[in-house]
Amino acid sequence: MILILLGAPGAGKGTQSKFLSEKYGILKISTGDILRAEVAGNTELGGKARSCMDRGDLVPDEIILAMMANRMAKEDCERGFILDGFPRTIDQADALGNMLRKLGRNVDFVLNVSVSENKLIRRIAGRRSCRHCGSVYNIYFNPPEKGGICDDCGDKLIQRRDDSKSVVMNRLKIYNEQTKPLIDYYDRKSLLRTVNGEEKPVAVLEHISNLLK
Ligand code: AMP
Repeated sequence: MILILLGAPGAGKGTQSKFLSEKYGILKISTGDILRAEVAGNTELGGKARSCMDRGDLVPDEIILAMMANRMAKEDCERGFILDGFPRTIDQADALGNMLRKLGRNVDFVLNVSVSENKLIRRIAGRRSCRHCGSVYNIYFNPPEKGGICDDCGDKLIQRRDDSKSVVMNRLKIYNEQTKPLIDYYDRKSLLRTVNGEEKPVAVLEHISNLLK
């Protein structure tokens, strides 16, 4: 199964893709996580991506597409995967379709996690994530049991550099201009389902699981 999770920053794509990956044993590929690891490791790719990410801009397609072609060619992708944060533009979606076609595969399902804009801003302001295992918390709505510490692995929680208010406004603008059109794009291909992402994370997971059945 090849599944795409669409949604604005803060809609819960990271949380849901982690849940789905654990529940169904499907590999999760998050372009944001890959890029953050490259930045943290001071690699050449990280160096190229860092300034775009800090501004909340998209990293250029040529970088993302080369990175994803490499990732999807790995053996662990053979059984399918969940894409979180990719594609983010119509050009990326076209390129993904071409890459998969060459491999004799196709996108099976696209889930749009929908959350209103004012809720997104509040969610992002409180978001804290674990760099080690990728678990996501919110200090207001879904706090960890012990302040600042991940319930799942005990590592320290961090606030993402691009979750500051000014950067978030740019990320939302870019989402509206460049990523939102993917909702129609995949709807026209009859691949799209939308879930209400405003409910509690476990309730959203249940809706998604029902749709997948
Ligand atoms: P995310 O964790 O998905 O919110 O991504 C964090 C940042 O990584 C984004 O704001 C972009 O700068 C960059 N990024 C992640 N995925 C992509 C993508 N598919 N295309 C371009 N830039 C991306």
